[in-house]
Amino acid sequence: MSFNFIRLCQDRSIPFLTEGHKHCRPGWVQTKCPFCTGHDGWHLGHPIGGYMFWCWRCGFHPLVETIATLTGLSKSRAYDLIDDYAGIPVARFDKREKQYSDKCKLPKHTPLRRQHKRYLRDRGFHADNLAERWGLCAATRATRYAGRILIPIYLDNVLISYQGRDVTGKSDNAYKACRVGDEVISHQDSLYGIDDVPGESVLVVEGVFDAWRFGPGAVATFGIDWSWPQVNLLRRFKYIHILFDPEPAAQKKAEELAVAVQTNEHDCWLHELQDERFADPAELPQDLADSFMKHIVRFEQAQKHLCSWGRAVLLTRSAVWLAVAWLPVLFLI
Ligand SMILES: [Zn+2]
Repeated sequence: MSFNFIRLCQDRSIPFLTEGHKHCRPGWVQTKCPFCTGHDGWHLGHPIGGYMFWCWRCGFHPLVETIATLTGLSKSRAYDLIDDYAGIPVARFDKREKQYSDKCKLPKHTPLRRQHKRYLRDRGFHADNLAERWGLCAATRATRYAGRILIPIYLDNVLISYQGRDVTGKSDNAYKACRVGDEVISHQDSLYGIDDVPGESVLVVEGVFDAWRFGPGAVATFGIDWSWPQVNLLRRFKYIHILFDPEPAAQKKAEELAVAVQTNEHDCWLHELQDERFADPAELPQDLADSFMKHIVRFEQAQKHLCSWGRAVLLTRSAVWLAVAWLPVLFLI
C-alpha cells in the first residue's frame, strides 16, 4: 500500500509538479507550501509513495496534517482521504524513484564502548562529550552496523537517517549509510547538525568529524558532493561560511557551493585551510577550531552593527579568502 498523492492532487485540483522546476527531483512531487509565507514557489515536496512532506523552506511536515491543510479538511477527514488514496498504485514517474520511510529508527545500540572511545580519543575528541552532544552510540553485534559508532541525523527535530562509522580501519566503507528505505529523507538532502545552529551564521564543512570539531553552528554535507536541497537548507541562515578540505577537488566543490548559495539576502564566505600540518578541518586543535567559530559569530555581530549604520554593502556580496592559520591576525583587525 502506498499513498497516491498525485491522484489526490489531480482529483482535487491541487497544482503539482514532478519535473521541470529547480525544486523538482526524481521520485518527488512538488506543490505550493501552505505552511510558510513568502514567494509562492514549489517548495513543498512529497516522496512518491511516501508518508511525509518536506518543504525547502520550513522543513518536515507529517502526512495527515499536510493533507488536512492542503485540502481544508479536518484531520479525521484527512485520514479517510489518505485511506482512499492509499490503495491506488502509484505511477512510476522515474526509474530512480525511491521509497522513503515515514519514521526512522536507530538500529539496536548500547552506549559507546571502550574501543569507540579510544578511537575518538585518538582523533583528538572527548568521547563522552561528543556522545552527549551529538547522541552517538554503538551498534550491537546483531545489526548490520555491528561494532560501528551510530551517528543519528536530525532535521527539524525529526530523526531522518543515521550513519555507522567504522572504528577498526579494516572496513572498506568507513561510513555505512542508513538504507534508503529506512530514511525519512535522504541524508544527502539534509545537513548534519542543522538543528543545533544557534544564530544566523553557519559554517559548512564536509564531514561529521569536522562538524564535531567546530561544534554547534557547523553543519556537514556528508562529502563534497553537495545537493540542491542542502543549498535550500543553508538559505535558512544569513551568513554562510564554507570550509571544505584543502584538496583541489574539494575546493572546487566549495566554490560551486558558494556560488549556489549566494543571493541578495545571503552572504557567503569561502574559507580555506592553508596550514599543511592539518589534512582536514577535523584535525585542527580544539582551541583553534573554537576561535574560528567565535570569529564567525563576531563577524555576524560586526555585520549587524554595520547594517544598523547602513554600510553593510562594504563587507557583503564578495567572497573573502581567508586562511585559518591567519586567524589570530584577523582578531586584531
Ligand atoms: Zn514551507
